[in-house]
Amino acid sequence: SFSHCLFFCVALLLGCPAIHPRCRWGAAPYQGRPTPLQLPLGFLYVHHTYVPAPPCTDFARCAANMRSMQRYHQDTRGWEDIGYSFVVGSDGYVYEGRGWHWVGAHTLGHNSRGFGVAIVGNYTAALPTEAALRTVRDTLPTCAVRAGFLRPDYALLGHRQLVRTDCPGDALFHLLRTWPHFTAVSLRSLPYHGPPPLSLHKCHKVPVPCL
Ligand SMILES: [Zn+2]
Repeated sequence: SFSHCLFFCVALLLGCPAIHPRCRWGAAPYQGRPTPLQLPLGFLYVHHTYVPAPPCTDFARCAANMRSMQRYHQDTRGWEDIGYSFVVGSDGYVYEGRGWHWVGAHTLGHNSRGFGVAIVGNYTAALPTEAALRTVRDTLPTCAVRAGFLRPDYALLGHRQLVRTDCPGDALFHLLRTWPHFTAVSLRSLPYHGPPPLSLHKCHKVPVPCL
């Protein structure tokens, strides 16, 4: 269909993975006033959702997972929105959480310095699909660097490197350590002291319509 083509073709033209916007997965409104990020950011934090534990393999299931996580984060945790910047399904597609422009609630104490990207599932003992891994390792950050949202020298970290947590699971974390932008830091010795952004690219907002 036309809207389907528009959705995927616009993403492909920009060299970006197709990101399902909030309106597509049926997000509830943001509660309150979002805080803008100061782009570009220097960090990409990787998470697993843990709950839901089963990987989501199609749009209907991933969208339902997004709605249940948002409900949990807003109603039970009392946050303003789903915590993650983006969530990735096992089909490799990206679901917009807080997105490129607003501070998330994913990595306590470090939310204004990085994007939090979660893969749906529990990756303590098993790995995500190659499609999901490719999105987090390659396509999403490449697109973000090109768009000026992420610094070219960004550091990729697992949630557990900054906060006392098992996230993103042993299996996934051990794989992350082999990825190009992975940066070894301990909880206390972060090598980043907030230098000014490299440049102030104009932000190209990906025009993905909901028709
Ligand atoms: Zn996490």
